[in-house]
Amino acid sequence: MTPKIELSQVDAAPPPARKPPVDPGSLAHRELLGGEFWRGVPAYAEVSEAEFLDHKWQAKHSVTNIPKLVAALSGLVSEAFIADAQRGFERAPMSMRVSPYVMSLIDWKDPYADPLRTQFIPLGSRLLPDHPRLDLDSLHERADMPVPGLTHRYVDKALFLALDTCPVYCRFCTRSYAVGIDTEEVSKFQLHVNTERWERAFAYIRSRPELEDIVISGGDAYQLRPEQITQIGEALLSIDHVRRMRYATKGPAVMPQKLLTDDAWLDALTAIVEKGRRLHKEVVVHTHFNHPREITQITQRALDRVCERGITVRNQTVLQRRVNDSPATMLLLLRRLGYVNVHPYYVYMHDLVKGVEDLRTTLDTGLLIEKQIRGGTAGFNTPTVVVDAPGGGGKRDAHSYEHYDRVTGVSVYTAPAVHPGELYYYVDPIDLLPPEGQARWADPAEHPKILEEARAAALAAPRARP
Ligand SMILES: *Cc1c(COP(=O)(O)O)cnc(C)c1O
Ligand code: SF4
Repeated sequence: MTPKIELSQVDAAPPPARKPPVDPGSLAHRELLGGEFWRGVPAYAEVSEAEFLDHKWQAKHSVTNIPKLVAALSGLVSEAFIADAQRGFERAPMSMRVSPYVMSLIDWKDPYADPLRTQFIPLGSRLLPDHPRLDLDSLHERADMPVPGLTHRYVDKALFLALDTCPVYCRFCTRSYAVGIDTEEVSKFQLHVNTERWERAFAYIRSRPELEDIVISGGDAYQLRPEQITQIGEALLSIDHVRRMRYATKGPAVMPQKLLTDDAWLDALTAIVEKGRRLHKEVVVHTHFNHPREITQITQRALDRVCERGITVRNQTVLQRRVNDSPATMLLLLRRLGYVNVHPYYVYMHDLVKGVEDLRTTLDTGLLIEKQIRGGTAGFNTPTVVVDAPGGGGKRDAHSYEHYDRVTGVSVYTAPAVHPGELYYYVDPIDLLPPEGQARWADPAEHPKILEEARAAALAAPRARP
């Protein structure tokens, strides 16, 4: 029986808590760019919507060298900017490839400050010297390769690098040792599509019963032909102990058109997801958005299709200076991703990659952003901020350092479930350190001392002991 409530008791109760009306600005994540925005770039002024949505048109008109950049931008940017970009590319470890979609999202009135330009078009004037601790393949992916193109570092999961091309080339790419064609600065480790190499990788996975989880990456799964999506998917699904697979692609962020107009590709992916479901195995997509402006109404339409097919999409973001290194930008990105049904999964501290020191920021910035964003949206849409420990320690929660010296910028991590007993060092970019820290790194004789101090401090930390 419901207890009887006297009317006088109700009257006496405090008024229900009222939230003030929402500030419309806090709903900015729902305002997605629409219309024919690409027509603002002279080269695309006459391009119809049907053409712009055609993934083949996007691929064919991608900007892959300086003459094409000049042709696309004639009249939009200064000659000084073009010369600066030319100097940037001459020293870059990555080849150039920018889709018309990304080109038309860059604010060419202020290209120096634009966060999308910053990710894809290097400028000579912005480049900083590499950190002395840097080496190409700083994650030691090649050291953990039992067969070419398969990295088996963690116990139950492995990374399969199927190919070495992408729909765009990002300046910050961790795999600049392998991805893209050779540049003036770097000749690459070769990972072409090669069925024989793939078969060796599948045979290895078959021979290792502990492997339950395979990341299919590269390069980028967008570049796989539909029959290759099927071939890889079926080979892995046929291995009993493989329970989880992810196709990794930056595509939705830089060329959402493919999800709208390349039906053969999306159908091939869907078929593997559905086959996986029948086998009670999880097949998902992992993508890579870095800035809220990368998400437009085109993206939303593309991801609606993916959602209708019941395909889970998760996102990994790279924390980059002048791109997304503020809590407000990161929160807008997370909410916008959630709004288009993408689950934010990780925010990576930028790896130590050659030629992109201007993009890296401090661990302290990553920690601050994590604190500011948590609570801003659903917990399952709140990414973990991680450091992929240089030297092969794998991903570590950024907060789990054993020691962090904000003067020298050195943080020390352990990875008990990956390589017990080992210490791993991450370093902040030198130009963001206090003067005292900058002075110490300026003297090579100090480098071993800096690291030895960090090691001793980490070993003295109670948590570091096994
Ligand atoms: C990131 C990564 C994986 C997958 O790790 P998760 O934390 O499960 O996303 C697997 N292997 C390698 C080598 C990796 O770098
Ligand atoms: S799409 Fe991914 S693999 Fe390709 S260049 Fe960009 S970060 Fe590297």
